[in-house]
Amino acid sequence: MQDLKKIPQIEKILKNPIFDNTNKIILKNITINKINHTRNQILNGQSYNLEHLENEILDEYKSITSNTLKPIINATGVVLQTNLGRSVFHKNLLNEILPLLSHYNNLEYNLKIGKRGERYDHLTSMLKAMFNTESALIVNNNAAAVLLILNTFAKDYEVIVSRGELVEIGGSFRIPEVMKSAGAILKEVGATNKTNLNDYKNAINEKSKIIMKAHKSNFEILGFSSEVSINDITKLCNENHLIDYYDLGSGYIKGIDCNEPSLLEICKNPPSLLSFSGDKLFGSTQAGIILGKKYLIDQLKQNHLLRALRVDKITILLLQATLQRYITNNIAEIPTINMLSKDISQLHKQAKFLCDRIDSFFNPSIIEVDSLAGGGSLPNKTFKSFGISLQIKGIKASELEKTLRENLVITRIYNNKVTLDMRTIQDDEIEILISILNNIKNARSNNE
Ligand SMILES: *Cc1c(COP(=O)(O)O)cnc(C)c1O
Repeated sequence: MQDLKKIPQIEKILKNPIFDNTNKIILKNITINKINHTRNQILNGQSYNLEHLENEILDEYKSITSNTLKPIINATGVVLQTNLGRSVFHKNLLNEILPLLSHYNNLEYNLKIGKRGERYDHLTSMLKAMFNTESALIVNNNAAAVLLILNTFAKDYEVIVSRGELVEIGGSFRIPEVMKSAGAILKEVGATNKTNLNDYKNAINEKSKIIMKAHKSNFEILGFSSEVSINDITKLCNENHLIDYYDLGSGYIKGIDCNEPSLLEICKNPPSLLSFSGDKLFGSTQAGIILGKKYLIDQLKQNHLLRALRVDKITILLLQATLQRYITNNIAEIPTINMLSKDISQLHKQAKFLCDRIDSFFNPSIIEVDSLAGGGSLPNKTFKSFGISLQIKGIKASELEKTLRENLVITRIYNNKVTLDMRTIQDDEIEILISILNNIKNARSNNE
């Protein structure tokens, strides 16, 4: 208990030169908490040491004030991971938009007439031309697109959705919940595995406004199952003066060997409204891209909710730069597509190059693995790939996985071995990876 009296005054602790060059407001708040904590520890019979306390304060200060977002090497082979920030950008694209961010720009300024312009115009003409739609709108993410559409057209009215499509996407997006937030009434039809056109037809009544089709982004119903195509839904809606809306989820355009219907394909006979994410297979930044009939998009623009879902100029710049790459067929500068289209011989070559450089301490060996699109895209589609399995004698795979994770390399465990999948490892990460592995080896060898 005598120790309690030994704790110096806060001001005195703060004067220690180890705290020079720190932000005093943050430092003081940390110190108050630490002192309270130390008091409790002393009351519980623990001993106290001033130097230890001061070092703890400094450590906490450093951890709080440093950048918590760190660059990660994604060696999992899962290309789109919401936990790892979904799509990444090519450096050329970032360099291109840099001057537009360090200077003013004409985001909402019409240079021709010298008056207020429209922030959405920057992208809409490009989107309209590319996808052959009447109009377009960008919001914060696809969840916002769903919310805005349902709220604008179906508040207090019914939205018909197949039971097989009431999807939950990671990150707490659930169609029934979004429907509730939008004030729309969900009208479920069909069964989990089967819905036919008559199910929709029979559900139509004077309260119906929208028939919504949601892409089964992250699962597939196999076996005895059927769903109604968006074209049939469009036809049914036209006959009944309803709005046909397709929540496409991922928004695949081109460049990957897969069975996913492309947006270009879907837009040959476009639904009245469709929406998709900017940072899934489209390969750009977080956004919700809405395409559709002009009179409907105009109504979306009138909804005051849009002001709360408005996108920043960075979003617009990144989406535009990505779209330009689709237009010029420069897929190599859309890393999401680039990674998902790497061919197997290229991956093998990269695996061999890396494997030859990894120390035998890790028992590296080239193995065949399956990569995934991830992020609620292309469920059940695997992409054959090559990886390198690592194994240190006497050390569990889970421990090596943890050590690598602490060094900012995220891996998967495959057949009880830590595996580096080449598909998601970027060229400029190879040398970093090798030096991380060398450091791990040295640290282990020194401990032995
Ligand atoms: C991913 C997804 C969403 C949510 O999109 P975010 O851009 O993550 O908000 C909505 N619907 C479907 C079908 C999806 O796949």
